[in-house]
Amino acid sequence: MARLPPGPRGGVQLTFGDRRQLVVLLVLVAVAFGLIVALTTPWQWLPGGELAAVDPTAGLQPEQLERISDYRANVVPVGLLSTLAGLLAVGFLGFSGYGSRLVRRLPGRQHWWIQGTLAVAAGVLIGRLVTLPFAIRVEQVRHRFGLSTQPWADWASDVATSYAVSVVILGIGALLIVGLARRTRRWWLPASVLAAALVIAGSFVYPVLVEPLFARFTPMPAGELRTSLVELAARDDVRVDEVLVADASQRTTALNAYVSGFGATKRIVVYDTLLAQASAEEVRLIVAHELGHADNRDVLQGTLIGALGAVGVVALFALILESGSMRRTAGYAGPRDAAVVPAVLALVAVGSFFVSPLQNLISRAVEARADVHALELTRDVGTFKSAQRRLAVANLSAPDPNQLLYVWYASHPTVAQRIALAEGWSAIQQRSRLGAGGARVGRLARVGVAGVGEQVVGQSAQGEDREHDDRRDQCGEKSVLS
Ligand SMILES: [Zn+2]
Repeated sequence: MARLPPGPRGGVQLTFGDRRQLVVLLVLVAVAFGLIVALTTPWQWLPGGELAAVDPTAGLQPEQLERISDYRANVVPVGLLSTLAGLLAVGFLGFSGYGSRLVRRLPGRQHWWIQGTLAVAAGVLIGRLVTLPFAIRVEQVRHRFGLSTQPWADWASDVATSYAVSVVILGIGALLIVGLARRTRRWWLPASVLAAALVIAGSFVYPVLVEPLFARFTPMPAGELRTSLVELAARDDVRVDEVLVADASQRTTALNAYVSGFGATKRIVVYDTLLAQASAEEVRLIVAHELGHADNRDVLQGTLIGALGAVGVVALFALILESGSMRRTAGYAGPRDAAVVPAVLALVAVGSFFVSPLQNLISRAVEARADVHALELTRDVGTFKSAQRRLAVANLSAPDPNQLLYVWYASHPTVAQRIALAEGWSAIQQRSRLGAGGARVGRLARVGVAGVGEQVVGQSAQGEDREHDDRRDQCGEKSVLS
């Protein structure tokens, strides 16, 4: 098919063949992505059983629950308003034409990459300035509740650092689009390959390049705890060269641990706050959860899925950014024009917002698998529950949040669900012990002989009641999603 006439401001519009190529690429990636996610996500949180009934209080004391809900009543509305304000500001700039006009006023018009970089810096700055009052408000509340330990000057420096990191990451993405579009008409082909490679490289270097900007990491000092953690990892057959301690107490009283990187950059990190507040058993339990991530190579798998997702994102962005109506409303000539940057930033913001429920749905299943791993490794249900409660109280996280917030923002199962998971796991263990005892336990139960057999049967029956409750709960969750 002949090439279509030039688009607005001299840009070249896509041919029919280009568009067909993009749609085919997008469909192929979407199908591959859907299949891989469907087949690799551990959808069943507790293999071989069901969660116990979810106790919405997670067994926390009334005054603890009150404190958590008081905190959340202060920060959740502010957080939601901040998200809304940020999306509106960046969306308005990107989709209305104001953003592209702003870019044309920036210096460096002779060099597209200077203009593009400045456009990213300006766009991200506007987004940050709009949400800054909300961020200050949240930090005030965090101070009031003792969750933040950071002096304001340090907080401001973190905000500036995080702004710079965003500008670098988004700048690389935006310059990739504009730079390649200036070289080749079908820019999305090299761009998608590069985007996938950048996702993989980014995840690899993140622990050594970005994380140190926000915390100092030191190897855990030799001692009983370190020895027991290394032993735990060895028992788990996971190679962990070092458990690092982050000086999180400089910023917060919140407790956390995580795994990041893969290959040479793989590390398990525990917050120093966790070491200070939790018992040695609880730290072991939490590290066992992280070992679950390491054992299942969750970071690498997530990265590879992200890389495939990046190919799809490039194809989708190309279809949208190249469309005539988008060029007209957003006021840029084409993706080769640096004035496209505000539209790119808007697509990133809106896209990440809407992809968040899917990301979290997958993440919650992966987190549940790490929880089961921790239970299998430690076989310590009591410590699992006490550690979850400690996390909820210290981090002021709602044990059973509102469904919509849960679907949109919860990257982990709720504390209440995690406790129900541990109880469900425990019920499976009881049942398998019951199965091993077989006929003997059955006979004991029938004749009503008091003792171990009866106790086991009693608990197992309780487990079954809980399973029915749980099925209802899960159905509820699914209906919100659909
Ligand atoms: Zn985890």
